[in-house]
Amino acid sequence: MQIRLITTPYWWDAAPPADAAPTEWQNRADVVIIGGGFTGFGAAIPLARAGLKVVIVEKDKIGAGASTRNGGITSGNLRHSYNKLSKKFGLEKAAKFYQEAHAARQDLISFITDEQIDCDLQLCGRFAGATQPRALAAMQSEADNLSKITGVVPVIYDKAGLAAHIDSDKYCGGVWRDDIGGIHPAKLLAGMHRVAVSAGAQIFTGAAVSSVRRIEAGADASFSVDTSKGQITAGHVITATNAYSDSATPWLRRRLVPVISEMIATEELGENRVRSLMPSKSMYSESLQIGHYFRPSPDGKRILLGGRRMDSDPTIAAERLRAGLVSILPDLADCAITHHWFGFVAFPFDQLPKLTVHDGVIYPAGYCGSGTVWARWLGQKAAQMVLGDVAGASSGNAGSADSVFADLPFRSMPFYSGEPWFLPLAMRFYAVQDKLANLRT
Ligand SMILES: Cc1cc2nc3c(=O)[nH]c(=O)nc-3n(C[C@H](O)[C@H](O)[C@H](O)COP(=O)(O)OP(=O)(O)OC[C@H]3O[C@@H](n4cnc5c(N)ncnc54)[C@H](O)[C@@H]3O)c2cc1C
Repeated sequence: MQIRLITTPYWWDAAPPADAAPTEWQNRADVVIIGGGFTGFGAAIPLARAGLKVVIVEKDKIGAGASTRNGGITSGNLRHSYNKLSKKFGLEKAAKFYQEAHAARQDLISFITDEQIDCDLQLCGRFAGATQPRALAAMQSEADNLSKITGVVPVIYDKAGLAAHIDSDKYCGGVWRDDIGGIHPAKLLAGMHRVAVSAGAQIFTGAAVSSVRRIEAGADASFSVDTSKGQITAGHVITATNAYSDSATPWLRRRLVPVISEMIATEELGENRVRSLMPSKSMYSESLQIGHYFRPSPDGKRILLGGRRMDSDPTIAAERLRAGLVSILPDLADCAITHHWFGFVAFPFDQLPKLTVHDGVIYPAGYCGSGTVWARWLGQKAAQMVLGDVAGASSGNAGSADSVFADLPFRSMPFYSGEPWFLPLAMRFYAVQDKLANLRT
């Protein structure tokens, strides 16, 4: 029997994007936040709780962006190894990146638990498969550094030990760590929406921002934000649009490369079959540059797998993901796919997340495909910047935030305006690198 492919995220079956409850338009706020995803709500909650008048303006529905489309793996990944960061920034600062990632992961779990958000939180760990011995050696080195810096002790497996986690011949070993887990991302965002509303934040959906202007500088600094629902002035603006940034935020667009990440969900395989393929029912990833990430669905009956898009034809793209799944778990050669969807992730040119202030506007962005942890965390840090300013001179110039990402340069490239014409070439380059790496042993 042919199954009709659903092209919206699997997560939307349980928690589709929603409109905010209708409310009277506001033309003045302490803080305007542009974008209703993890970053926007991550910022709104502490600000509203501190008693500020907070308005979120979202051009679509709540959760229309990446926050409800993702794999729900609480990775808090950094694209660069500790050794690479040490070479670039020195040992002390490299350790700070890792400590902050550790704090951000823990903070997400505490938030979900404290706010009693029903989002299928699974503290199940994550297994990363190594496709060749060099990758396994790199994993060992990274694991040693991680345990020195954060106290998390990853477990390294050789091929013989893999069966504890996955029934696959694709890997020569891998690493499992217990500080990464899984959530249902659309349920998490719905929970953050609820918490923000009860803290007093006001949310407007279908309110597309067209421009942000600074109308006064100095002690009475403020901003004028034009939206499709009306104009609003605010003492502070946080831009939380990440990979969905458009012409309203040209400064940010010039600094981010939007990349398509896409996922498939299998038909129901049954809990026993999923458990036999993935005995530890962890979250999973691979050592490759353009590898896959995958996981059991929260009910344990399906497998969800994602990767970067390599082909513009969605039918070919879905088939490529299915082939990727079968390359890992050949037992699934005959299984049907029920869902195929995509979204955008954002990469800064140096592949490190950012928390940057430009012309008074605060920009948390650029999570490199790992925003389930980073987006909420850096949204919170943006809130901390506003609260620091409010507690000081209230100059409309953001205060400081205790984050290693706050003082990184956020660069663009000459002639780049946000349309990544070079992306197909870059993806081919990474694919070739992966092939070459697999040939070396
Ligand atoms: C398929 C996929 C799988 C992923 N898997 C994982 C994973 O397993 N683990 C992980 O950590 N991360 C993952 N990610 C990344 C993660 O989802 C994102 O980094 C994170 O959700 C970013 O959150 P955000 O709030 O910054 O942006 P978004 O959730 O994208 O929200 C931005 C919002 O801004 C709004 N907006 C844009 N312009 C305007 C405007 N002019 N006016 C008003 N509103 C505007 C958009 O409509 C959008 O709703 C994945 C992403 C995708 C797409």
